[in-house]
Amino acid sequence: MRQEITTICTSDIGGQTRGKGYPTRDRERRLERGIGWTPTNALITPFGKIAPSPWGPFGDLVMHPDPATETRIDFGDGSAVEGFVMADICHLDGTPWEVCTRGFLNRVLKALDERHGLSVRAAFEHEFAYFGADEQPNSPYALGAVRRLGPFGELYLAALDQAGIELDTFMAEYGPSQYEVTVGPAIGVRAADHAVLVRELARATAWRLGEQRVSFAPLLRPDAVGNGVHVHFSLFESATGRPVNHDPDRPDGLSESAGRFIEGMLRKMPAYLALTASSPVSYYRLTPNRWSAAYNNLGYRDREAGVRICPVFDPTRIAKQYHFEYRAADATASPYMVLGAMLAAGLWGLDQGLDPARVFEGAPQHFDDAHNEARGVRRLPLSLTDALDAFEADEDLTPIITPVLKSAFLAFKRFEIGLLKDLPPEALCARYAEVY
Ligand code: GLU
Ligand code: MG
Repeated sequence: MRQEITTICTSDIGGQTRGKGYPTRDRERRLERGIGWTPTNALITPFGKIAPSPWGPFGDLVMHPDPATETRIDFGDGSAVEGFVMADICHLDGTPWEVCTRGFLNRVLKALDERHGLSVRAAFEHEFAYFGADEQPNSPYALGAVRRLGPFGELYLAALDQAGIELDTFMAEYGPSQYEVTVGPAIGVRAADHAVLVRELARATAWRLGEQRVSFAPLLRPDAVGNGVHVHFSLFESATGRPVNHDPDRPDGLSESAGRFIEGMLRKMPAYLALTASSPVSYYRLTPNRWSAAYNNLGYRDREAGVRICPVFDPTRIAKQYHFEYRAADATASPYMVLGAMLAAGLWGLDQGLDPARVFEGAPQHFDDAHNEARGVRRLPLSLTDALDAFEADEDLTPIITPVLKSAFLAFKRFEIGLLKDLPPEALCARYAEVY
């Protein structure tokens, strides 16, 4: 006797997937009506305690599922079906609720299209640890490390496939028990939807293999190899689909409009970093010589740049393949916040008509501040506290983020910092490894 369940989900400010469920047989009715939600739920931290809420026990919202995100995975082993669908959180009259992370991304995408006729194609690359594979030396890119996964890899790839996600690569990464999964590009909000699925289906797969676990936490230990989230992206004309990133006649092949967009992303990176690297431990990873990102620089094929111009493998398709990668993100941030924040800053760069970004030559940590400052390059905030202060102080991005989302985010994150403030770095990493 079994009754299938579908959960209508949000990926919240803390990057946690939460929601409410219904019997799958009520699908038609629920796709139309959604399910109730409460404003204060947006302030549930990853450790369970709730940050001070301006709403308290008051208010009602509705989660409207987006049918394009319906996911139903039957692992075929007799375990319960994984059934869920991503939602937009709305007021009861159907207008978007400003604090919804997916709504924030949709708001930015709409503005980019309306003001500049542009759309975004993006693909998320995730690194994570699988705790069911024994940790052995000599695992970087090792075939043996893929073997030690046992059935995890095959099962995970099949689950992604069943979810309709195109897979690009899957490999053993540099760190012990560290793996990397990259999915194919998707347009607009779908790219972030896929990133939620990449995380949840890894967890779902591991759980079915003897209740094993994965962790996408940015660092499992202060001295460990980081788990990054790298966001590959490019811009195209909404009306024609024509890519607008490359111009062979300009420096480094960077087109004028993409250059303005990237310049906005770089200049505002310190101000929105808290939205893409959202935990205290994120800042142990964002340090030089870790192949993550420690400065707001544009690099040409440089794996330590805040934003890098990626290599093109087929010179005959350069206009299509030429794209960028944002490296200062991790999985303690919701993919909707990550993509929304990056694009909001790029949009600001376009709105302002900034001078196009220029590639920074070399590694910023090898130059003095004057050299870097002259090129607009700065060390990124050193802690989540500093990043939140920079976010609070910036007014340029507030209109699109909205004051209500901004203050909810600040209240949430400052409360979360306070909860764990007495933990030494080792223990802090361990707590985040547990919940991410
Ligand atoms: N593990 C690195 C990070 O924390 C990235 C390594 C790479 O794939 O370039 O972002
Ligand atoms: Mg990697």
